[in-house]
Amino acid sequence: MKLIDVHVHIQQHEPSELGGILERAATADVGAVIASGVTVEDSEKCIDLSRRHEMVLAGVGVHPTDLTGPLTDDDLDQLEQMASDESVVAMSEIGIDHQEHVLSRESSSGRPWSEIQEEAFRQQIEIARRQRLPIVFHVREPGDDPDAESAWPAALRVLDETRAGELGGAAHYFQGNESAAKSLLDAGFMVSFGRPLIRFKRLQEIARWLPSDRIVIETDSYPQPFKKNRAKWTEPRHLADVAACLAEVRGVSVDEIAEQTSENALSMLRDAGGRVRGLLEA
Ligand SMILES: [Zn+2]
Repeated sequence: MKLIDVHVHIQQHEPSELGGILERAATADVGAVIASGVTVEDSEKCIDLSRRHEMVLAGVGVHPTDLTGPLTDDDLDQLEQMASDESVVAMSEIGIDHQEHVLSRESSSGRPWSEIQEEAFRQQIEIARRQRLPIVFHVREPGDDPDAESAWPAALRVLDETRAGELGGAAHYFQGNESAAKSLLDAGFMVSFGRPLIRFKRLQEIARWLPSDRIVIETDSYPQPFKKNRAKWTEPRHLADVAACLAEVRGVSVDEIAEQTSENALSMLRDAGGRVRGLLEA
């Protein structure tokens, strides 16, 4: 079975780059990617890309660090409209981000950013519920400290209060600690690993004991002009490296990892899973 990259932002690349990126992904055995929006406009780009490329599925949402204030009624209407589009398979990217530079920005609404983020997270979970979509969410602690106990408790509280586990979904680019991983399982979510799995032993420890039916993989690819060598930019083709690392950590074959993580993603996508299956089995 082919791999599915459950979280990318390739809609942000120059349009002229996309053909090459998708071709290289296909060569690395990636059958589908979920392009995730971070603003209303960016979400529109995801839908547009999905309509033009069969292997691209769309996610829509406003990222916690891209909020410019509370979501407006107009934002919410547009998100709801987009979420109902047949190319859209997930509410993504939404979530909670407690990095210091994000929470310390000036807030024109006079309300603390942590509160604005929680409200937007809840509102977008509600859209996902109405549109029968899973959620793929971001949680980032201040200083990327896995034990900061700031963003994770907030995110888990919102997920619990909104009963978001009923929608299913995944914690994307997981970098939390063991207790966060356990809470995700209890709440009914998948854990999504990106390239940090290859670097961090502590993530490998978690990846070793997670149930096989609760892991998905991703690259979170986006344009990285800060890396001077273009060949070093993360692309969906690097999903193969994440799969290889996971196979080694869990002591199984890469084929088995491909089968498990793709089946997990298909079950997470629920209604859309049927049509996505064709892309992964082809
Ligand atoms: Zn992302």
